[in-house]
Amino acid sequence: MVVVMGPGATEGDIVAVVSQVETAGGEAFVSRGINRTIIGLVGDLQQFGALNLRGLRGVHDVIRISVPYKLVSRENHPERSVVRVGGVPIGPGTMTLIAGPCAVETPEQTLAAAQMAQAAGATLLRGGAYKPRTSPYAFQGLGEAGLKILAEVREETGLPIVTEVVDARDVDLVASYADMLQVGTRNTQNFALLQAVGQAGKPVMLKRGMNGTIEEWLMSAEYIAQRGNLDIVLCERGIRTFETATRNTLDISAVPVAQRLSHLPVIVDPSHSGGRRDLVLPLTRAAIAVGADGVIIDVHPHPESALCDGPQALVDGDLRELAKVVRDLPPLVDRVLTQPVRV
Ligand code: PEP
Ligand code: MN
Repeated sequence: MVVVMGPGATEGDIVAVVSQVETAGGEAFVSRGINRTIIGLVGDLQQFGALNLRGLRGVHDVIRISVPYKLVSRENHPERSVVRVGGVPIGPGTMTLIAGPCAVETPEQTLAAAQMAQAAGATLLRGGAYKPRTSPYAFQGLGEAGLKILAEVREETGLPIVTEVVDARDVDLVASYADMLQVGTRNTQNFALLQAVGQAGKPVMLKRGMNGTIEEWLMSAEYIAQRGNLDIVLCERGIRTFETATRNTLDISAVPVAQRLSHLPVIVDPSHSGGRRDLVLPLTRAAIAVGADGVIIDVHPHPESALCDGPQALVDGDLRELAKVVRDLPPLVDRVLTQPVRV
């Protein structure tokens, strides 16, 4: 059950709802969005029914939701949401290009990748300082030194930064540099991390687990929302199937399915889906055509010497085509490429 507070609800009105629910033996989780506050209730529904929550001051509506993911469901919030990252919108009407290196390696490499991204039309910079690697012997990222490089490159280019956090203990540190926190496919069911990013006060990009169903993905988003953060962008990045020709299988139908079930924006990662440079542009076209709210793409000035995921990074020669795809295709599906906030 979800209590939707009206636009004029005061802090006192919210506290009154929470205390009624707690007195009835339930728990109440308050999520403050840009336009309204919603309160998710956990506990005995029949007892809540007896409370007459609808009659409390400031309450706009009380909705019984039939799906297990309540705060992120479209039943609760029929309009599709826009999430703003450093002022850059991700959501209906626009198509946002996020691009940059898989991993931050050096200041020069990160700046060069950011300039490549920007030239192609990117309005957000991606780059990992904490890398969740399958092998403990692989490059694990530069840690805070990488975050500092990202902050310098943001200064230089004006691009807000999206960067991954892999450990709940690092959330505050990463959030102090990042404009958006990324939770990767390997951590989609790390519930302590999801709860920590839910409290960090920054938008979150939540990748789909490579072995996860769409419902499990939305339940993971619910963990973040339940801690008070509704600024969540879902990212389809390919799932494990029997196919070995590609690194993962891009589940293109997950985009409209997730958009129908949830009000959250849904973007696609064509780089980690295919794991191959030659597939990135075709998969980007597919993502835009199917109605994705954005794409996140790896670029690298020298992929042959990249410390992470070189084979899937776009290079300078690919950028002209990428720029054309992200400019020309969105209008065919009633969207425009997101414009920079400041350059
Ligand atoms: C990434 O985007 O750098 C990444 C590690 O992605 P994923 O979690 O989808 O593998
Ligand atoms: Mn990668």
